[in-house]
Amino acid sequence: MLATGDRFQQVAHAIRTKKVRTIYDPSAASGEKTAQYLLDVNVLYLTGLGVDTYSKSLIIHEAGHIINDIYRVQKVHVYDDEAFCYVIQAAYLTLKNFGIGNIETLRSASGRSVTQNAIDVFRSAYNLAGHYLSGGALLLQNEQNLRVAISRLPEYPTNKIKHYDGL
Ligand SMILES: [Zn+2]
Repeated sequence: MLATGDRFQQVAHAIRTKKVRTIYDPSAASGEKTAQYLLDVNVLYLTGLGVDTYSKSLIIHEAGHIINDIYRVQKVHVYDDEAFCYVIQAAYLTLKNFGIGNIETLRSASGRSVTQNAIDVFRSAYNLAGHYLSGGALLLQNEQNLRVAISRLPEYPTNKIKHYDGL
């Protein structure tokens, strides 16, 4: 799957035409997820509005899942699916000059819940994003590092196969 500019335009179009509905639920803002894409019902569920760079990046991450749903990606392992979205997110953060140091700072800031395991995920994702943004080659070892880091996050307990059902 590719994350090109026109595919993000397709995501924006899907949201504008309500093929993807957005639900904003600030009452859940204390929860750990600022954004989540519910692929079965085509809902982008937001508990925050992405006012800062990191929160925006969480929505960018979910846009990656929406791209996969637009293209009805079948038989994708959860860790590959998440790796795709974390690299997109890290590319966005890199372009916004929001480096891994900023992620580590978030961890210590109050009200955030970026764990050490999550920092490990971001470190691998930034690494890959940096290579891609500079036109570098695919680095299989780094991809594997990212999958392993993702597997340590409690949100993704198994590497089950996922099917996107389309919008
Ligand atoms: Zn994800």
